[in-house]
Amino acid sequence: MADRHEGGEDRPYDAVLETAERHAKAWLRGIRDRPIPPRLGSEDIKGRLGRELPETGEPAVDVIDRLAEGAEPGLSAIGSPRFYGWVIGGTQPVALAADWLVSAWDQNTGLRTITPAAVAAEEIAEAWLVDLLGLPGGSQVGFTTGATMAQFTCMAAARDEVLRRAGWDVETQGMAGGPAIRFIVGEERHGTVDLAGRYLGLGSPIVVPSDIEGRIRVDELRATLTAGGGPTIVLLQAGNIHSGAFDDFGPAIAAAHEADAWVHVDGAFGLWASASPRLRHLVAGVDAADSWSTDAHKTLSVPYDCGLAIVRDAHAMHRALSMHASYLQVTDEGADPHEKVPELSRRARGLPTWAVLRSLGRTGVAALVERMADAARGIADGVAKLPGVEVLNDVVFTQVCIALDDDQATEALSRRLWDDGEVLAMTSRWHDRAVVRFSVSNWQTDAAEVRRTVDAVGRALDEVRAGAG
Ligand SMILES: *Cc1c(COP(=O)(O)O)cnc(C)c1O
Repeated sequence: MADRHEGGEDRPYDAVLETAERHAKAWLRGIRDRPIPPRLGSEDIKGRLGRELPETGEPAVDVIDRLAEGAEPGLSAIGSPRFYGWVIGGTQPVALAADWLVSAWDQNTGLRTITPAAVAAEEIAEAWLVDLLGLPGGSQVGFTTGATMAQFTCMAAARDEVLRRAGWDVETQGMAGGPAIRFIVGEERHGTVDLAGRYLGLGSPIVVPSDIEGRIRVDELRATLTAGGGPTIVLLQAGNIHSGAFDDFGPAIAAAHEADAWVHVDGAFGLWASASPRLRHLVAGVDAADSWSTDAHKTLSVPYDCGLAIVRDAHAMHRALSMHASYLQVTDEGADPHEKVPELSRRARGLPTWAVLRSLGRTGVAALVERMADAARGIADGVAKLPGVEVLNDVVFTQVCIALDDDQATEALSRRLWDDGEVLAMTSRWHDRAVVRFSVSNWQTDAAEVRRTVDAVGRALDEVRAGAG
């Protein structure tokens, strides 16, 4: 029996967990210095893991060895302080350790009665988050898999409420035959906003033009709002993925509320500006919205996956999301976790968030956010001095978009960086131009890493020029 080899029947977990720990530590120790991109693709990794379903089993320790060794060349060093691809965060040590306990404890965090410890830690984190993000007291926080699902969750509450005001109960009556919902977004919203609208049966959004930094134009928003009526949901953005820009929340939210709209803010990474006294001005007025979605797995640096769905009106959230069933016991202590997220069964994914907040404290969270913004400023200033590099955005937060004179050269620069492996920054298109985008989302990106980044971009640029010349 596999179990007997691995510590006896009463300790079936010990040996396999020690094996996993050894692999995990080796990976984490090497993360700063290994090439960032994966060296092999998924087909090669399938070969290394073994494609055939084994007829008979394999000891647990061997399975974990096989997984760690087989997977290694197909892993990206996402936790590297020079990983700037998309907006993807790393992991603080305390959050990873808490996440291990989440798995070991295996608490199905749907109901307060059965998992009081998980609910307690998540509710403490909930109150801390609402405070840190400067949002209205009593706002509810649901721990989702990410900002995409957080957006869906908040917009489910929005849909319930705007239809209820129009005399329609979407929970019992469904969508067909009900009043149409106007779903208004800015031109440069994140693609997941459309996804949430699709999941909720809202169809394609009404698109309002954005300005040069990607902020929704408030005059255009006002014009759109007054051109029609009926139940309305307006989507605003804290943190544009190309420029880092923030919508002008004060006037935009006021205009939307005048039209009795529900305002949701996609603040996947940008909402964290609220936690910094120095950067808070960027989100001025955001607390007047009705709901906010953000991620803990980006800026806050907890392991994947954790998003945060925050809703001011607890009733709207619970009406839209809670399940009523005879076998679920309800207590008077407050909402059950399942009333705030789409899932019934889920892991206690809020605990790493509790751990990071406990470990950093208010000033530590502010410093974390400011360090990311400072690093973005440093990268922008450093690369702007390199010949032919243009920084395209006003670097107000954590995003930097650069371009060379033509798209081909910009794409060549991005490829060169990928091959070199020291810095990972992805190509994108913004305002009809190829760009290389740096999203600073790692808790370890400091001034030294910024220097290393700028040097690597300089080297890659030299090679692109040499190749072209
Ligand atoms: C990352 C991101 C999302 C989606 O978040 P996930 O956690 O990947 O689901 C939505 N909006 C913005 C602005 C983002 O940066």
